[in-house]
Amino acid sequence: MSEIPMSSVAVFSPQNRDWKSVVSESFRDLDALLEFCEIDGLRTEIQANQEFTFRVTRYFASLIEKGNALDPLLLQVLPDAYELQMVDGYSEDAVGDRLSMPLPGLIHKYHGRVLLTLTGACAIHCRYCFRRHYPYSESNTDYCVNSEVVKYLSRHTEVNEVILSGGDPLMLSDQKLANLVTSLNQVPHIRSLRIHSRVLSVLPERVTQGLINTLHQFRGRVVFVTHINHPKEISEPNQTAFHLLSQQGYRLFNQSVLLKRVNDSPQTLAELSNKLFESHIIPYYLHRLDKVQGAAHFDLTAEESCRIYKQLRNRLPGYLLPAMVEELPGRASKTPVLCD
Ligand code: SF4
Repeated sequence: MSEIPMSSVAVFSPQNRDWKSVVSESFRDLDALLEFCEIDGLRTEIQANQEFTFRVTRYFASLIEKGNALDPLLLQVLPDAYELQMVDGYSEDAVGDRLSMPLPGLIHKYHGRVLLTLTGACAIHCRYCFRRHYPYSESNTDYCVNSEVVKYLSRHTEVNEVILSGGDPLMLSDQKLANLVTSLNQVPHIRSLRIHSRVLSVLPERVTQGLINTLHQFRGRVVFVTHINHPKEISEPNQTAFHLLSQQGYRLFNQSVLLKRVNDSPQTLAELSNKLFESHIIPYYLHRLDKVQGAAHFDLTAEESCRIYKQLRNRLPGYLLPAMVEELPGRASKTPVLCD
């Protein structure tokens, strides 16, 4: 067996596993996951009908309660016949990404910041994903030094933050991330690099010395935004990864999506905020579901959302209360959901 370079190994991993080989062992088959979770009696033929394929990391699967078909982590990844129903008011481009794309893979909606979709790859496929219909094959960004993206950033001197998204930007190799960092370092007004990633929580093996070395090459600040919806998604391995990033001086924030049957209770959300804080992560946003076709069965009404949020507000100190927001096409910022 070839020797694994240390830089690709999770710095906290006692097993010295290369993160790419960990990814390759993910569940791609629902029946295999259900067998692993010791769950019988769920219809599984539906997965064959899905264009949005099935994928779950071993680590995320290990956090699902054995024998519990209603486990809130399982429900986030379980294909459902409801995904095939067309529902009024839900669209393929729920947040208007395609209306705000001056170049393939570059989304410029808000003043001062742009978002790059670097890859369509994810470590886990969340059934409520608002980018489940996103045209990744036409939209992956070319970010080499002389690319149109870098020229665009150079022209737009008002842009001081680049947000890396996807898919999941941490599915890219360290070498590709290093190339991007080199390009961004050529644009003096880019002061902040923000990384939106679900990999941080579902594939903690990705936090390697190589990743840290790569990000240290960026001359501005680097901020991480995790995506965690339920307190059960946090356990020792990913807490260790968060701690490590925090020790390196990185700030971590979390965004969650309010999801029916997954985290639609003030108790669950309050526990999530407390656990995030213990893990060096600030609760940042609680998103109402983006109205994407195929995910309506996760949605809650505005009244239900506000009832939960008001009770959450009564349970938490202000610094642990995420802002409840929704992303509406054509707006100049996220829209706060006002519950009073
Ligand atoms: S990780 Fe993010 S981009 Fe990927 S499927 Fe989940 S929500 Fe969508």
